[in-house]
Amino acid sequence: MKQDLKSLPLDELTAALAALAQPPYRARQLYQWMHRKLAPSYDAMSNIPNSLKALLKKNFEYTSLQQQLVQESRIDGTRKYLFSLADDNCNESVWRRYHQRNSVCVSSQVGCRMGCRFCASTLDGLNRNLLAGEMLDQIYAITRQTGERVSNVVIMGSGEPLDNYDNVTRFIRMLSDEHGLHISQRNITLSTCGLAPRIRRLADEGLQITLALSLHAPTDEKRKRLMPVAYRYSLEEVLDACGYYFEKTGRRVTFEYSLVRGVNDNKEEAHQLIRLLKSHNCQGCHVNLIPVNPIEERDYQGTEPGKVKAFQNLLDQNGINATIRREMGRDIDGACGQLRRRQLKENAGKNPASAEPADS
Ligand code: SAH
Repeated sequence: MKQDLKSLPLDELTAALAALAQPPYRARQLYQWMHRKLAPSYDAMSNIPNSLKALLKKNFEYTSLQQQLVQESRIDGTRKYLFSLADDNCNESVWRRYHQRNSVCVSSQVGCRMGCRFCASTLDGLNRNLLAGEMLDQIYAITRQTGERVSNVVIMGSGEPLDNYDNVTRFIRMLSDEHGLHISQRNITLSTCGLAPRIRRLADEGLQITLALSLHAPTDEKRKRLMPVAYRYSLEEVLDACGYYFEKTGRRVTFEYSLVRGVNDNKEEAHQLIRLLKSHNCQGCHVNLIPVNPIEERDYQGTEPGKVKAFQNLLDQNGINATIRREMGRDIDGACGQLRRRQLKENAGKNPASAEPADS
């Protein structure tokens, strides 16, 4: 398979063009067309000669995601995009605006092999990793469509980013590169289910991104019920790795805690969570609470709003900063992998349900 031009950082692009007897300024021009001006194809590249375009087409792929569907939430304006990829796969991304900022949630894999019980992305396993260019293009396509600059990026869509380590770190470097969109690494968050050795490796990368850990339970026993990855890495190992991340980067780790009715949401569990975080020196850390977004293949339900608030109060009273995350885009299959899954089913003719927003 040919290399993807959009996945090459400037130094690699320069070397690849040199191999085709092209001078370095051509690499800079091309990089600018792809990563600054967000050209969807070679057509727009007015200062690149046709002979070079032909040469590039022969030697490289040029990632360009095609928008298949966009759904806008009537509750909060959040938009969910479904993009088709060159190989007939598709992936989803979410755009939201809050407090004058625009954030995009990108997917890092087609499907996922982590098996979290409440997550729709993982139901059919992993199909393949996304390339850096395919992650970048989710942001580029959305920027073109909205006409607004993206200020924050969260790698919290489908997939486990640390299971696609090389492409994801490449993506982060290119996204924050001054020759591209130049999004500050401090405005990029990577969320992981907790691959401890990879968290340590990430800590040594010299990046300034925020790490979010999907915790979801205060004990190994409970966590195993929700997340098979807990059989591989204990909470002890994962939280130690998070401590190492903080030590190396100075960036505090955020904890994600999806509240599942009757499974991880009672007072005792809140106290266990407080003890766990305190025993790992996480006093200054932040917990995001989000009632689980139910998926039709599982019978998990989100915690009732009053109990979510009580859980938050307990954490707060005990010195653990906790925010209740707004459930954005609930009416548009907001949770990971739900939209793609719905579309796949429709394509297969198994589910006649419409892909229109639920409240239309
Ligand atoms: N694999 C990474 C990132 C993708 S999921 C991770 O596990 O962190 C992003 C976040 O959404 C994770 O915290 C994940 O556990 C959570 N999530 C997935 N499906 C959900 C659902 N149906 N309801 C609530 N949170 C969900």
